[in-house]
Amino acid sequence: MLGAIPWREGQDLAKARVFDELADHAGVTGEPLDIVVSAEDRITRYGVRRRACTNCGDCSMVCNVGAKNTLMTNYLPMARHFGAQLFTRVQVDHLESAGRDGYRVHCLVRSGPRGRTRSDRIVTAKRVVLSAGSLGTTGILLRSRARGLALSPRLGEDFSGNGDNFAVAYNTDRVTDAQGFGTDTGPRSQIKAGPSITSVMRFGADQPDLGKRFTVQDLTAPSALVDAFRLALMGIAGTQHPDWHPDRVNRWHKDVEWNVNGALNHSLGFLIMAHDSSDGRIVLGDNGSVRVDWPGAPAERIYTEIDEVLAAAVERIDGTYLSNPRWSSRVLGNNLVTAHPLGGCATADSVDYGVVDDRGRVFDPDGGVHKGLYVSDGSVIPRALAVNPLLTISMFTERAAEKLRRELRLPAYDAAREGDDRAPKPAREPGRGRARRPADGGEEAVVTTGNGSTADRVAELRAAAPHDPDGAQEEVWAWIKELGAKRDTKTLEQLFAAGTPPPGLDGPADGILVTTAVNPLLDLPVRLATSLWMPWRGKVFDSRHKTGINRLTAGSALPARLLWPLYGMRETEEGRAAFKFVSGREPGKIEPRIPVLKIDYKPVASNPDLIIRQIRDELVELVPDTHLGRVLLRVPTLRGERFVNIGYFALRQPAAGG
Ligand SMILES: Cc1cc2nc3c(=O)[nH]c(=O)nc-3n(C[C@H](O)[C@H](O)[C@H](O)COP(=O)(O)OP(=O)(O)OC[C@H]3O[C@@H](n4cnc5c(N)ncnc54)[C@H](O)[C@@H]3O)c2cc1C
Ligand code: SF4
Repeated sequence: MLGAIPWREGQDLAKARVFDELADHAGVTGEPLDIVVSAEDRITRYGVRRRACTNCGDCSMVCNVGAKNTLMTNYLPMARHFGAQLFTRVQVDHLESAGRDGYRVHCLVRSGPRGRTRSDRIVTAKRVVLSAGSLGTTGILLRSRARGLALSPRLGEDFSGNGDNFAVAYNTDRVTDAQGFGTDTGPRSQIKAGPSITSVMRFGADQPDLGKRFTVQDLTAPSALVDAFRLALMGIAGTQHPDWHPDRVNRWHKDVEWNVNGALNHSLGFLIMAHDSSDGRIVLGDNGSVRVDWPGAPAERIYTEIDEVLAAAVERIDGTYLSNPRWSSRVLGNNLVTAHPLGGCATADSVDYGVVDDRGRVFDPDGGVHKGLYVSDGSVIPRALAVNPLLTISMFTERAAEKLRRELRLPAYDAAREGDDRAPKPAREPGRGRARRPADGGEEAVVTTGNGSTADRVAELRAAAPHDPDGAQEEVWAWIKELGAKRDTKTLEQLFAAGTPPPGLDGPADGILVTTAVNPLLDLPVRLATSLWMPWRGKVFDSRHKTGINRLTAGSALPARLLWPLYGMRETEEGRAAFKFVSGREPGKIEPRIPVLKIDYKPVASNPDLIIRQIRDELVELVPDTHLGRVLLRVPTLRGERFVNIGYFALRQPAAGG
C-alpha cells in the first residue's frame, strides 16, 4: 500500500556515492533504502494521478511533482472508494461521553478565505478513532480530561523526539549535488539532486543496549531553503569553523550566489535518529494548546557520541562537520527539533503504564477500556525508535484496524483488494462461487474483484472527471449501454465492483434498464418487451430524509392498475411517481465488500407486496453524477431470505460541469 521501492538503484546520484564513502569511513555500510516515491506516470485504481519522481530533491518540504506517496494518494482515496466520507477544515477540540450514543466530539469548522470564518459543530458518534498525531491526539485527550473524561494518569507522558538530530558535512572535497530544484526548469534543474532520503547507515544494530544504536540518512536541501541554507551555513562556517585551506576558501566564497562549484554543492545534510530518554511531557497550556515540557532534551549524551563518529568520517573527505546548527547558534535557538514526534498516549499493558492497549483502545481508569474510543497514530508509540517511524505507526494502525473490523464483524483484510493501489489481482476465478470465511468466524464474504482493465478504465475516467465532467459522464454512459446491449454481465459485475457509494445523491435522476441478468431464455422476452415499451424513467432522491420514489411514464397507469389494482400513483412535477423507497449506505447484499447505496422497497408498507416489496436495488457511483445499479430480488429461504441479482440499471444527473 505504501508503494516503497529501492529508488537509488540505477540512478547514479552523486550524494549517494559520497554517503557510501562516508559510511566506509565511519566503519559501517551505506545501504540503499526502499522509499515511498512513484517511479512511473500512472493512475491508481482509486483514480489518483501519480507522476514519476524527477529527482528534484524537494521531499522534505513538499512534492510538487506528485511523485511522493502519502496518505492523500493511498489510504485516503482507498477509504473514499470504500465509502468513507472525508471532511477537511475541521479541528477537533475535545470529546465527551454521550452514554449509549457513544461520544460527542466538539469541533471547530473553519471556512472562507484562510479559514478565518469559524463555527462550532458537535458530532455524535458511537465509535471515535483519534489519529491527530502525537501532539494533536494528546492535546484532544488532555482537553477532554480537563472537561471530565477519565483517562490514564500517563496521558502526555513518554514523549520522544525519536532521538532526531541534524548535522551537515560542509564544504567537502566531493560534489554532492544535494541542492533541490523543485519544479524549476532552469540551470538548477541540470543537477540530479535525488529524493531527500535514499540511503542509510545503521550503527550498533547488533547491540543489545539500545542506547548504542542509531541511524544516519542523507538529506537534500529543498529548493525553497537552498538559498537560505547556503548563506546561513556560509555564516556559521565562517564565524565558528574558520578554515584557510585554499580549495575550501575558494568554494566557500563562491557561495555568495547559487552555483555548482560552491560549498553547498559539496555538502551533505544528515538526518540522525537515536534512542533518546523518551521522558518528555506534553502539557496543556492556559489557552488550551499543548507544549512540550522537556528541558534536558538537547543535552542527551548520545548526541555527543554520534557527533564524534560522524565528524571523524567527514574529516576524511576534507569537510567541516557542523553539528546541529540550531544548537550551535544562540540566534537559531537551542531547541530540540524533530520531524518525528512520538508518544503522549503510549500503548501499554494497563492504565498504570500507558493510555491505550495494543489495539489502540483507550483505558478507563475505573476499569477496562472506554467502549468505542480508539487512538491510532504516532502518539501510541511509547519510546524513541531510532528509525523513521512511519512503518511502525502504519503497522500499529493496520493491526488496530483489522481488530476493529473483526469487532464490527466486517470482512477481514483482503490483500488482493486493499493491498496496494495498482491494478487489482483477481481474488477468485470468475464463476467460482464463494471465498474464504474470516478466521474469527465473522460474516462470510464473497470477493469479486474487477479485472485490471475495467478498474483501470474507471480510475482513468475518475481522474479525468474533475477537468471534463461531461466527457467522463458521456463515456461511462456509452460504455454501460454497450455492455447492456452485449449483455456482458461479467464486465458489468466488474464495473459495479469498481464503484463507490454515491455521496449525497439528491433530486431527479434519469434512468435506463441496462440488461436483465436472470438467464438467457427468460431475459430474451423481457428484453424484447422493454425495447418496445419502457414505463420507467428514473428516480427522485431525497437525501435529507433518505427516501425516494420512482418516475414513470403516463402510459404506465393502465398496466399498473391491472397488476396492482389497489395501488395508486401520484402526479408530481417530475411526472407520475410510484413505489417509494428508503435509501442509505450499507454493505452490498451479494458482495458485502462493496459498500452501496441501498434502495429498498420492503420497509414502505404502502408498496404492493407483489414483486415491488421483494425488490432491493443497490447503487454505486462510477464517475460523479453517473451511477450503475443492481436489481436484487428477495428469495425466501428456510433461514430467512437471500438475494438474487436479476438485472442492471443506470442513473445519471446532469454532470456538475454541464
Ligand atoms: C518533513 C517530514 C519528513 C518526514 N519523512 C519521513 C520519512 O521519510 N519516513 C518516515 O517514516 N517518517 C517521516 N516523517 C514522519 C512521519 O510523517 C510521521 O511520523 C507520521 O506522519 C506521523 O503520523 P501520525 O498519524 O501520528 O500523525 P500525522 O501524520 O501528523 O497526522 C495527524 C493529522 O491530524 C491532523 N490534526 C492534528 N490536530 C488535529 C485536531 N485537533 N483536529 C483535527 N485534525 C487534527 C493534522 O493536521 C494531521 O493531518 C516525516 C515528517 C516530516 C515532518
Ligand atoms: S525528489 Fe522531487 S519528485 Fe521525487 S519524490 Fe522528492 S519531491 Fe517528489
